[in-house]
Amino acid sequence: MSHREDTIVAIATPSGMGAIAVLRISGPDSISLVDSVFRNPSGTRKDLKLKPGYSVHFGAIHDGDTLIDEVLCTMFRAPHSYTGEDTVEISCHGSTFIQRELLQLFLRKGARLADPGEFTLRAFLHGKMDLSQAEAVADLIASENQASADVALRQMRGGFSKELSDLREQLIQFASLIELELDFSEEDVEFANRDQLTDLLNRIRQVLKRLQDSFALGNAIKNGIPVAIVGAPNAGKSTLLNALLKEERAIVSDIAGTTRDVIEDEIHLGGLTFRFIDTAGLRDTSDHVESIGIRKAYEKVDQASIVLYLVDLAHPPLDIADRIQQIRERAGNKPVILLGNKSDRVRDESPDWITEVDHYLPISALSGEGLEEVQQALLDQVETSALSNNEVVVTNARHYQNLVQAFEAIQRVQGGLESGISGDLLAQDVREALRYLGNITGEIDVDRDILGTIFGKFCIGK
Ligand code: GDP
Repeated sequence: MSHREDTIVAIATPSGMGAIAVLRISGPDSISLVDSVFRNPSGTRKDLKLKPGYSVHFGAIHDGDTLIDEVLCTMFRAPHSYTGEDTVEISCHGSTFIQRELLQLFLRKGARLADPGEFTLRAFLHGKMDLSQAEAVADLIASENQASADVALRQMRGGFSKELSDLREQLIQFASLIELELDFSEEDVEFANRDQLTDLLNRIRQVLKRLQDSFALGNAIKNGIPVAIVGAPNAGKSTLLNALLKEERAIVSDIAGTTRDVIEDEIHLGGLTFRFIDTAGLRDTSDHVESIGIRKAYEKVDQASIVLYLVDLAHPPLDIADRIQQIRERAGNKPVILLGNKSDRVRDESPDWITEVDHYLPISALSGEGLEEVQQALLDQVETSALSNNEVVVTNARHYQNLVQAFEAIQRVQGGLESGISGDLLAQDVREALRYLGNITGEIDVDRDILGTIFGKFCIGK
C-alpha cells in the first residue's frame, strides 16, 4: 500500500460512457490541485480554496488554454469526508475521452492514481470506519439481492462492530484484572472474581457462537444456496428446472438419459439466491456415459445444500425406496425434498415409497402445478429468522475464521480456569482471544499484507 500523505485521484463511476462520470480526488493537495484548473464559466478565477465543505460549484476545467469540460465540483473539507481528508468530487460529462483527459490532467499536476480500494483504506486509516465496516462497503457494492444488500448495509453502519467492540471491552477488563493479580502474586490476592469471570466467559462464548453460526446464513446470502435436482432419467428434472427458471435453458428430451451436461442456473426467492444444479440421471446402468452422469449426480449432491429428488409418478423405478435411501445417506444432514412429478398424469398424495419423516410434494413440472410449493419448501429450508430479527449476520470468511479462533481461545481460558492454571497463562489466552477479535475490526495493528488483500479486492475509485 502506498503512502497516505499524498493526493490520489481515480474515476469513481464504472468504466465506459454514461450521462455523467465522477472523478474523486482526495488528499492534502486535492483542493489546490482542482483550484489550479477550475474557473468560472466566464473564465475568471474560482478560488475554490476559500469555499467551505459540503458546497457544490459549477465551472469549467481548462488544461492551459484548452477547455476540457464544464463540470460540478463538490467540496469536502477534512475530516468531514468519506476518506477523512480534503476531497473534491468532480462530476463531468460521461464521455470516456473527457474522463481520460481529466484524469491525465490531474496526474500531470501531481496527483497519483489511486490503488484499488485506497479511498476506503484511507477512511479506515483515518478512523472513519473500522475494518469490518470497510469490508462491508465492498460487499454492498457487490450485492445482487435484497438480503446481501441488507446484511452489508447493516454491517457498514456498524452493527457488527458494536457487538464485537463490546465483547472486546469486557475481555480487556478481564485481562487487566488478571494481570493486576500477577503484580501482587506474592500476596496471593484475587481481584478477578472467578465466578463472575466464568459468567462473563459464558456470555462471550454464546455471542461468538451465535456470530459463528450466522455465517451459514451469511454465506448462503452472499454466495447463493446450491440446490441439486436429482432423479432417474426422464423423471422431469430438466422440465422442472426450466419451469423454475421459466426459460428453456436445459435440454428437454424424450430420450432417456440424454440430459448429460451439468447446467447451473439461479433464481431469486424471498431476497435469496438459489443456484440450481441440474444433473444427469441416477439410473444404474452399464452405459459408460450414463455412469459418469450418475457419478456427477452424487458429486452435485455433495456440493448442494438442498436436494430435490424427483420421481416420475407414472413410472417410479422398482427399487425407488433404495435409491432414495442412497441419496439420503449421501446427503447426510442436508434436507432432501421428494417430488412426485407428472401429477397431471398420475395423482398420488402418499406413494408407498415415502416415509413419515419425508418432505413430499406432488407436482407437475409440465403444467406448473405445485411449483409454488416447491419454491416455498426451498425457502423453508433456509433459517432466515436472523434477517427478519435484524440480527448481525457474518458474511465474511476472514471474520468467520477469526471468530472461530477467538472462540477456541475462550474455550482454552475456560478450561484453564477450571483446572486452575496460573494467572500468566490465563492472561496469555485472553490476549490471544483479544487479538483475533481485534483482527476483525482492525482495532489492533492489522498486518499490512492483510490490508493489502482486503482493499485490493475493491474497484478503483472506491
Ligand atoms: P430428465 O431426464 O429428468 O431431465 O427429464 P425431462 O425433463 O427431459 O422430461 C422427460 C419427459 O417427461 C419429457 O417428455 C417431458 O415433457 C416429460 N415431463 C416432464 N415433466 C412432466 C410432467 O409434469 N407431466 C408430464 N405429463 N410430462 C412431463
